[in-house]
Amino acid sequence: MLNNVALFVEPEKVSLQTIDIPKIKETEILVKTGYCGLCGTDIHLFDGKVPFAKYPLVPGHEFSGEIVKVGSKLRNDLQIGDRVAINPNLSCNDLQRDSCYYCEKNRNHFCQSWEAIGVTRNGAFAEYVICPSTVAYKIPENVSLKSAAFMEPLACCLHGLNKIDITESDVIYIIGGGPIGLLMLSVIKATTQCKTLVSEPVKSRRKLAEKIGADIILDPFEEDVFPTLKTETQGQGVDVAIECVGSKLTAKQAIDSLNKGGKALIFGVADPLSTINLDIHRLYANEISLFGSFTNPDTNLMALNLLSDQTITPTSLISHEFQLTSIEKAISLAKSQLDDVNKVLIKP
Ligand SMILES: [Zn+2]
Ligand SMILES: [Zn+2]
Repeated sequence: MLNNVALFVEPEKVSLQTIDIPKIKETEILVKTGYCGLCGTDIHLFDGKVPFAKYPLVPGHEFSGEIVKVGSKLRNDLQIGDRVAINPNLSCNDLQRDSCYYCEKNRNHFCQSWEAIGVTRNGAFAEYVICPSTVAYKIPENVSLKSAAFMEPLACCLHGLNKIDITESDVIYIIGGGPIGLLMLSVIKATTQCKTLVSEPVKSRRKLAEKIGADIILDPFEEDVFPTLKTETQGQGVDVAIECVGSKLTAKQAIDSLNKGGKALIFGVADPLSTINLDIHRLYANEISLFGSFTNPDTNLMALNLLSDQTITPTSLISHEFQLTSIEKAISLAKSQLDDVNKVLIKP
């Protein structure tokens, strides 16, 4: 059986290839890709900026599809024809190993044998993907394959939001209104009454933020955001800042924007070795909390439920769809920051 794939031979070198599908293991399934989201991580993979990536690689980790083959000893009741969304992060249990130091502590996302479909092993910029059955989630009937391709990024957002433990009186500042920032905003707006501010330079994204219900929308390239943050908070700064860009500048801005007791969630993927100066006296005296958030342990089902009960309708974030053969065009478009670009989906 053959597979059409977009192989990243090395950074900045993509090759469309037809390759043999290896025999699946008895605990694995073969998934025919429905849709796969193009994520910032895929762009970092293209640029060669993901330290744990292994080339040659077929990227693509935000995907849904249909099971076309099942191994003989699955540990769940999945069957051929089932529609599934995949959690691409694999830990000891999925890899059928004895628990490592972190899996033992129930922090599977730090698994010492951690692998990720589309990052360290071949992913869904392909017609078919091999997955351990334990990371496949059956898609509820009323959720489309397109919508289900958002399970993974949504689950990542939920993991981050769980960490900062938002309360109803919080004023929340979201830095960056790309697909992730807008998913964050969607969850916050759908589940709390919190006042939200979003800063985003791209106009169409600001429009989407407005549609989703952001209370105040700022263009950081046109105005200094700090005066507005202050006016909206009696001069104190925000309770929560969520950094969804992945740059030094915005990470610093997140921390600088906080009031006393404020919390910053650093969610964007910065370049390795990016550093900023930290005012540690302020950290102490103002009880500033900093949070990182990595992948999506334990939140995939929650994400599927939010999609199923229509709390989150992510397909409105899609601006472009491409076939696999146009993958390079898709990547350069996603990198372009052009005004009408938001979430880009690949349909192999
Ligand atoms: Zn992603
Ligand atoms: Zn482990």
